[in-house]
Amino acid sequence: MNYRRCGRSGILLPEISLGLWHNFGETSTVDESYALLAKACDLGITHFDLANNYGPPSGAAEARLGELMEKGFRTHRDEVVISTKAGHLMWDGPYGDWGSRKHLLASLDQSLRRMKLDYVDIFYSHRPDPETPLEETIGALVTAVQSGRALYAGISKYPPELARRACALLKDAGVPCLIHQFRYNMMELSPEEGLLDTLKEEGVGGIAFSPLAQGVLTGKYLAGVPGSSRAASGSVFLTEDRLEPTRQKVAALDAFAREHGRELTQLALRWVLRKQEVTSALIGARTVEQLADCAACLDSPALTEAECRALDVLLRE
Ligand code: NDP
Repeated sequence: MNYRRCGRSGILLPEISLGLWHNFGETSTVDESYALLAKACDLGITHFDLANNYGPPSGAAEARLGELMEKGFRTHRDEVVISTKAGHLMWDGPYGDWGSRKHLLASLDQSLRRMKLDYVDIFYSHRPDPETPLEETIGALVTAVQSGRALYAGISKYPPELARRACALLKDAGVPCLIHQFRYNMMELSPEEGLLDTLKEEGVGGIAFSPLAQGVLTGKYLAGVPGSSRAASGSVFLTEDRLEPTRQKVAALDAFAREHGRELTQLALRWVLRKQEVTSALIGARTVEQLADCAACLDSPALTEAECRALDVLLRE
């Protein structure tokens, strides 16, 4: 594993991080979850990304991690970075969602209880809240850190200007923003329109979620929908009707990868990592085999300038 410095901080993150959004709840067994974490550790993947609502059902991923902590994983607590977030719907009523101080801190306390942890390494505002003053949301992140519930603060899905304001507020409070988490992959180029530059200027790390576009950029849907896949699982986040418009581009990328002696999955991860502003590619591998396959991208050479230029053209066609 290679490790990159997260912005202007003391933290090094693995180039590949593992997210536990769809692959760690009640759809897998405790043994499968343990094997996934153990394999990640063996590969040097030292960063696990969660949120209050990961499952299914919501809360189940954190609860599973808590079970594994009790089954011995706690021995490795100081060797790994564990992140969680609040800001998407978690419980009913006016305090179970969005960016109020009430929601963020109550949710963090629940997360710590589920994960059986004293603290998380990174606590994120999961999304901006247009109705809550930014000062309040950011103030809750500051409290999370100053009260010892989190070591670092992060933001997710904040557009460039709001991210800049959030960073300024955090800096003023003496809790610099460690990291920004955003969707970035060969089908989602928007972070190149200002966000990556903002992160560089602010000295904030970047972590790219869904670098494989939820599996689409592995090419697995080119010949239909495999039975065990996310699109076949009933996930509202990857429905079959969303696949059709991607087919032509994915086929072209697959051909590009073959012509250059690469695998599509590994090309997709190498592409995200070509940017220095990206500290880590946050994958959601579901099995130990997928995890190993993704980590193997680091054995392939970094993209050449000529490959990057050709892909720039292909992706914008
Ligand atoms: P990916 O783009 O890596 O997609 C993961 C899916 O890709 C897997 O479920 C699997 O699909 C498939 N896959 C992964 N590796 C392989 C492989 N080697 N071969 C074949 N298929 C493979 O990431 P996710 O969309 O899962 O997101 C990753 C993480 O990002 C989440 O776990 C979460 O931590 C974070 N995230 C954050 C968000 C935010 O709002 N901040 C939003 C979304 C995600 P299959 O199951 O079909 O086999």
